[in-house]
Amino acid sequence: MSSVPSPTIAARAGAFVQVLRRVLRLAAPYFSSDEEKWRARLMFAGIVALNLAYVYALVLFNQWYGRFYDGLQNKDAVVFWREIRVFAWLAFFNIAIQVAKFYLTQLLQLRWRSWMTRHYLGRWMADRTFYHLELARYAHADGATPDNPDQRIQEDMQMFTNATMTLSMEILNAVVTLLSFIGILWGLSGTFDLSLGGSTYQVAGSMVWLALVYCVVGTIITHFIGRPLIGLNFRQQRFEADFRHHLVRVREYSEAIALDRGETVERGQLDTRFGAVLRNYLQLIKKQKNLVTFTAMFGQASVIFPFIVSAPRFFSGAIQLGALIQISSAFDKVQESLSWFVANYDRVAVWRATTDRLISFDDAMRAHAAREDALQREEGAAVLGTSDLTLALPNGTQLLAGAALAVRPGDSVLLQGPSGSGKSTLFRAFAGIWPFARGKVQAPADAVFMPQRPYLPDGKLREALTYPHPAAGFSDDQLRQALADALLPDLVNRLDDSDAWSQKLSGGEQQRLAIARVLLKKPAWLFADEVTSALDAPAEAVLYQRLADTVRAGGGAMVSIAHRPAVGDFHGQRWTLVPQDESAAGGARYRLDTSTAAQAAAT
Ligand code: ADP
Repeated sequence: MSSVPSPTIAARAGAFVQVLRRVLRLAAPYFSSDEEKWRARLMFAGIVALNLAYVYALVLFNQWYGRFYDGLQNKDAVVFWREIRVFAWLAFFNIAIQVAKFYLTQLLQLRWRSWMTRHYLGRWMADRTFYHLELARYAHADGATPDNPDQRIQEDMQMFTNATMTLSMEILNAVVTLLSFIGILWGLSGTFDLSLGGSTYQVAGSMVWLALVYCVVGTIITHFIGRPLIGLNFRQQRFEADFRHHLVRVREYSEAIALDRGETVERGQLDTRFGAVLRNYLQLIKKQKNLVTFTAMFGQASVIFPFIVSAPRFFSGAIQLGALIQISSAFDKVQESLSWFVANYDRVAVWRATTDRLISFDDAMRAHAAREDALQREEGAAVLGTSDLTLALPNGTQLLAGAALAVRPGDSVLLQGPSGSGKSTLFRAFAGIWPFARGKVQAPADAVFMPQRPYLPDGKLREALTYPHPAAGFSDDQLRQALADALLPDLVNRLDDSDAWSQKLSGGEQQRLAIARVLLKKPAWLFADEVTSALDAPAEAVLYQRLADTVRAGGGAMVSIAHRPAVGDFHGQRWTLVPQDESAAGGARYRLDTSTAAQAAAT
């Protein structure tokens, strides 16, 4: 240990300050929230007070040791029985503090986690952040956008609130214990003679200096033995997550894997991933074994070390048995607080990683909230209209530039174009959810957008049918009628059955359920994206007629995306996305040709 380069220390201190700033940024909103701040601060103050009281109890116990052992040494029965009574009081006080400390800390952690989780859920769900973060994730593969928001919200917040509370209180305890017991140890220490360059100095607080040297040496050795643990712990978490992720994928794609007879491949993949878990864990155990060996030795030696160094003073009669016992217990406390970082640095490392993950999630949500919408959208118009509408992909490629479109009540438009030309994306822009659109959109309020793959929540059929509206708003007769009209007679009597509908129903049944939803809600405007692609031709004709009738009755209009020619029968106009040279005006890949009329609308 000749010289430690100072830039490293400066860099470490800088990193530490940065970590503290991030923790404050994550923690501050709760402790300054309108609804919780006073309760939170009061509980926090209570916990700090209980921790201080806990250290105070330790000091009282240390003094008690002094009196009790002196009494024993002097064979003084009066002192002995008095101190037994004192001990009973002290023990009662100590137990009460520990219980209150545990309960209050848990309660604050729970309230904090619940506030933080709700707060983040609100931000994640607001303003379509959940959707845009997913889009952004695929746009920048550099990891700038956080992965797995589910893990952030469910696991990281629990870990963050928990670890922040426990670690900060443990540090507070260690510091206060250290200060109190250094004082005690100093008072009990003798002086020792130090000869330096011919002259002799009397040094006070000998036991304190010995404790310091003992712990510094111990800390340095532990640091070198324990260092590999941090990296191994990180990798362990990742390997476990990979293994679990693959298991979930097998479950999700169970049918496709079974059809492909992919069991052997999947089994091999799972074995590989589980093998990584085990190999890393074995390494972890080996490194931990070294650390345990050293810390056990260090702990054992610290029992005997203070006795050995104080023995000469005890045998010469300079100190009594009580003082000797007090020294050993004070030395133990000082040693324990000085070694806090050593004993806990893998916990600190996990907590830091959690903090970093939450910060990146927070950053992404802030950036999203601060962005300017390039698309001006006006809802509640009597028509659907766009002006100067430009559509791009997340990577910046322009699909369509400067489109001016209009759909009036009574219109019915069939939108066609090659696969991947941006038909669905145009619908996303109409709905105002596509963040890579520019220009102006006016849209009617009473509109339903039907995506290619409908979302069917797990649970009761009636809830899947009325989603996202509460099922209670519709009578059983209405629901049954809608199912019957959508050619789902088999489901009519299963309104209260619960199931994973998106897995159990066939593709065509799912599309019919989505159509039943529209027939139930009767919107005036309908935007339908390939909504009959999995149906047979006769069913398609019947259901498209019903959709067209619904829209006409509502006084609105219908815009459809469909490849099948028969769907054209239900539409009066046709828009076609035509590929164009990207060097053409606007620099987009496609232009929208609105001049062609579809077949005369069937009425
Ligand atoms: P269409 O409906 O005409 O088949 P889409 O509008 O679904 O086409 O998609 C248009 C283009 O945008 C396709 O090339 C598709 O790969 C791309 N695209 C769609 N969604 C995303 C996304 N989230 N991230 C990146 N590219 C996307």
